[in-house]
Amino acid sequence: MIIMETDATKEQIAHVIREIKKYGLRADVSKGAYRTVIGLVGDERKIPFDHFAVLPGVKEVIKIEIPYKLISREYGKFFEGMSERMVVRVGDIEIGGDEPVFIVGPCAVENKAQLFKIAEGVKRAGGHILRGGIFKPRSSVHSFQGLGAGGREEAEEALDWLREAGREFGLPTITEIRGEAQVDLVAEYVDILQIGARNMYDQDLLTKAATKGKPVMLKRHFGAGIEEFLSFAEYIAAAGNKDIILCERGILPVGKGKSYTRYMLDLASVPVIQKETYLPVLVDPSHATGRRDLILSMSCAAIAAGASGLMIEAHHNPAEALVDGPQAITPDELKDVIDACRRIHKVNPSKRNKD
Ligand code: PEP
Ligand code: MN
Repeated sequence: MIIMETDATKEQIAHVIREIKKYGLRADVSKGAYRTVIGLVGDERKIPFDHFAVLPGVKEVIKIEIPYKLISREYGKFFEGMSERMVVRVGDIEIGGDEPVFIVGPCAVENKAQLFKIAEGVKRAGGHILRGGIFKPRSSVHSFQGLGAGGREEAEEALDWLREAGREFGLPTITEIRGEAQVDLVAEYVDILQIGARNMYDQDLLTKAATKGKPVMLKRHFGAGIEEFLSFAEYIAAAGNKDIILCERGILPVGKGKSYTRYMLDLASVPVIQKETYLPVLVDPSHATGRRDLILSMSCAAIAAGASGLMIEAHHNPAEALVDGPQAITPDELKDVIDACRRIHKVNPSKRNKD
């Protein structure tokens, strides 16, 4: 990280950027009110630290010794407005702002009527963003894979419903991309690109998703440590996109015997990640627990832990949901969840979690 002098000239800054490019590195330039900070992105072995330290206009060169440099608090504290939390804006909605954000919708888009019915319920309950899986990651190849598996035409039709439902009810949209081949198509239709837990490690997918000029939500792999999770989020930032939303969705339970929940919801990760980065963190209690009877309590707990919002699966008729019915709540139940979370948020001492 190169910290420029407060009185560094435009020419000096441009010179530093040219030098960075000369070494085959990318410059991540942040112009603050007082000074410019330039992050060096690329192979660390190629960075001639001493060379940059003596360039005109350079105040100092700081080496950040962690793998997630660009999204770290250490780096973020030099940017305006990121000393506490970066706000990711999607239309009028602020993720990481003063109010918790609720991303809600069916696990999978099943048909147009289902999606519109749920979207209406999400809006009525106070939700902000509509989710709906079209390319579903499934453990069994014999189960419903999402409408996206039906080929390009069916995928586009479902994406079009999602966009239309979002417009009709004033809800920005999010859906998962499972592979690089889906990125261009999906980015034409939705507002946020979701990278699911299973693909957290796909660095090519992360890099490609970052280039679409849209926020990317990255879910934690169920076997990933927090450092690893953040190190992969760094791939998105390194590709030039800092509109990153992190989502805790539970890790694998340990020990013998029945666990009673689908995964183990690691809520301590919320304040820990907020100490490490300036990115907003959401929690998904649906996949974490796999149980609708736990959504209210775990949603409240996530907000109490300081989460910037939640991603929740809802269905107007959970018993008939093609995927993840046991964890889906109804729009009426959603309203109770959102109301309870808002009450907790109001009195929440964790909402300003930082270092
Ligand atoms: C999802 O949100 O649709 C999903 C599949 O979640 P995860 O990637 O966390 O399993
Ligand atoms: Mn699901």
